[in-house]
Amino acid sequence: MKRDTQLTRAGRPHHGTRSVNAPVNRASTILAGTARELYNRPDGTPLYGRFGTDSQNALRSAMCELQAADYCALAPSGLSAMTLTAIAEVSSGGHLLASDSLYGPTRMFLTDTVARWGVEVDFYDPRAGAGIADRIKDNTQLIFCESPGSLTFEVQDIPAISQAAAKTGACVMADDTWSAGLNANMLDLGADYAAQSLTKYVGGHSDVIMGAVLARGEAANRLKEAEWRMGFFVSPDDAFLVLRGLRTLDLRMEKSARNSLEIAQRLADHPAVSTVIHPARKDHPDHALYERDFTAPAGVFGVEFAGWSLARGERFLDALDIFGLGFSWGGFESLAVHCDPQLRRHFRTAHDGALIRLAIGLENVEDLWRDLEQAINTSA
Ligand SMILES: *Cc1c(COP(=O)(O)O)cnc(C)c1O
Repeated sequence: MKRDTQLTRAGRPHHGTRSVNAPVNRASTILAGTARELYNRPDGTPLYGRFGTDSQNALRSAMCELQAADYCALAPSGLSAMTLTAIAEVSSGGHLLASDSLYGPTRMFLTDTVARWGVEVDFYDPRAGAGIADRIKDNTQLIFCESPGSLTFEVQDIPAISQAAAKTGACVMADDTWSAGLNANMLDLGADYAAQSLTKYVGGHSDVIMGAVLARGEAANRLKEAEWRMGFFVSPDDAFLVLRGLRTLDLRMEKSARNSLEIAQRLADHPAVSTVIHPARKDHPDHALYERDFTAPAGVFGVEFAGWSLARGERFLDALDIFGLGFSWGGFESLAVHCDPQLRRHFRTAHDGALIRLAIGLENVEDLWRDLEQAINTSA
């Protein structure tokens, strides 16, 4: 089946109910028929609500089907999806390599929490590619990747990094939020874990926070164990919302991406702009990797305004009318943020002026462009 057909069918209930959607099944206690069944339920019925009912399992199974994974752990947020992979893989005396382009809070979890567990954390250049081999040590247990990176959108060579890791037995985790697991498959590219914030495109409606981690084979077993031991749980109501979002993921991403490429081109042609940072554009430094590993882009990208002060950047944001000012992306509405206060990098290439991140939504592209143009002009 092709991807769009799959999106309409994955995770549908197979038995019990004739409704198209799995019911929202709220449960803590799930009763056993007999004493023997307390610890060993027939036909895979969960023992206890924390493991998830039909609602969470429908979402898990849909995610697994889309990425040909053996297990999908559901985490209470995208951030906790990232942290779960570290919990599954690292131990005292180990070493973790982290891309310098990681989402800020993931980075802080590694430097402030994982480092306290007696695990050495080192950052590497997101563009290291096969050169990562020089940074891998005997005790390297896990390599954190994020492709493209938050705010600066470097595309990582996941196959090259995974090959180098496989030689030493280290595992690779790829934060896959930008592709939503739809426009790239990090597991096919060689990563052991593909993790994403479902809050973004899959949820898609700015009303739910959740994360997912997918894995195959032995890694899937370790992932499942880590999820259970941590007691991670997402509510059946939220799982229902995220699965509802998944049904229209391709349509929404397609329009958001199409809008974003049009806006990116008009910005690139505008005299106020020095650089547009969008992996799907030919002028992006990692465009060849994007072309090789992704089938389509997301609608989130960066734009540098030449010589703009922080104050001018703030005036520009304040002048926007249709674009909201707020964190997250992948919802139906367009958003803008100023990146500088969030940037924490060792290997960052210097940029000139203000770096703004635009998340392009489903509005009409002409309305969006008029909004950006008037904000550039009135902020002068
Ligand atoms: C938003 C985001 C996260 C965190 O997701 P939440 O659901 O907000 O916790 C992690 N990684 C990336 C790349 C993100 O954009």
